[in-house]
Amino acid sequence: MTETRPRLTRRLAGFGTTIFTEMSRRATELGAINLAQGFPDFDGPEHVKSAAAAAIAAGHAQYAPMHGITPLHEALSESYARRYGLDYAPLREITVTSGATEAIFDSIAALTDVGDEVVLFEPYYDSYRASVCMAGAIPRTVTLRPPRFDFDPAELERAFGERTRVCVLNTPHNPTGKTFCREELEHVARLCIRHDVVCVADEVYEHLVYEGSHVPIATLPGMRERTVTISSLAKTFSLTGWKIGWALAPEDLTRAVRAAHQWVTFATATPLQHGAVAAVRSDESYFRALVASYRAKRDRLAGALADLGLEVYLPAGTYFVCAGFSRFGFDDDVAFCRHLIEKVGVAAIPPSAFFDDPADGRSFVRFAFCKRDETLEAAIARLQALRSHR
Ligand code: PMP
Ligand code: GLN
Repeated sequence: MTETRPRLTRRLAGFGTTIFTEMSRRATELGAINLAQGFPDFDGPEHVKSAAAAAIAAGHAQYAPMHGITPLHEALSESYARRYGLDYAPLREITVTSGATEAIFDSIAALTDVGDEVVLFEPYYDSYRASVCMAGAIPRTVTLRPPRFDFDPAELERAFGERTRVCVLNTPHNPTGKTFCREELEHVARLCIRHDVVCVADEVYEHLVYEGSHVPIATLPGMRERTVTISSLAKTFSLTGWKIGWALAPEDLTRAVRAAHQWVTFATATPLQHGAVAAVRSDESYFRALVASYRAKRDRLAGALADLGLEVYLPAGTYFVCAGFSRFGFDDDVAFCRHLIEKVGVAAIPPSAFFDDPADGRSFVRFAFCKRDETLEAAIARLQALRSHR
């Protein structure tokens, strides 16, 4: 009898199932309140849904152009110019993708050869490492450590070398809620310029900022020409299931992103792109109300966690709050999350999944607050059970 070969490549074998899928599955099984996977338990805006529904009714049912529909290019171009003073030409410098996740993979796949290196800040959104490995490139990580999640400038300098082609920058940052300050952005920019590296800027939380305002790294001197700026509908419009994202970059980098995109998905859901036009063109009042609502949720959950004796790292952005649990006597984040989901009835994310060395993430957990007030209140009520553990 011949032995069966392992079917999964070595590139992918180490990754297993994502922690988000795993925690959501267990939350459903155990009836726990899901503050783990970051998706809203409320609906997206009516004006966006009705624009997509109208597009379906009008028969926008065939392939969109590979790079995305023209009205969405125009809406994005105007929005980035107005908000950040960044000019991207419709049709030539914008690519619509199936979520930010695809744009990240397209960029990395198109800009690295086998054996090239990609700088990642850890904890990282888990798809970055997988994308780098699928491309045959090598991740070089720089660690953000609690409580401030700063990086060591010398460690960042050491991560850049001869073979570095891409640096992935995520600000506001998942899972820590950190927003990179101007000085940190300047440091990253200096190294990208010195080593002729492209910055892949994942800015999906650009609108969820509670302190100061969002600074796209592409606005720094010398960076527009070497940055792929990525965002999506998911967080800003509470539409994580739509999977509409985009990549903005100068023409040479856009050609690279599209070289991958055309073979990965070719084109993205046509009627949802029409919905995205209405989203991107939303009135300023929409964005203001979104931030105000999330600020209140952040303050409520962070306050309750602090009151229970967790060490809260108040996020400057995103819809996540991380907290240390040193007073509660658990070995690590996985053990604490197991207790939370099995005994307390609340699911959270153990961040060790986002580090090369899980030990670097063992001292804190991540809670998502993109949930209805009732859901947060129910979770906070259950979390009171932790008091007996202190
Ligand atoms: N980047 C980060 C940092 C995220 O947290 C997420 C959330 N899912 C994504 C990218 C993926 O975005 P999308 O759903 O648009 O693919
Ligand atoms: N971005 C979401 C989070 O961080 C989840 C994305 C996913 O499930 N892949 O929770």
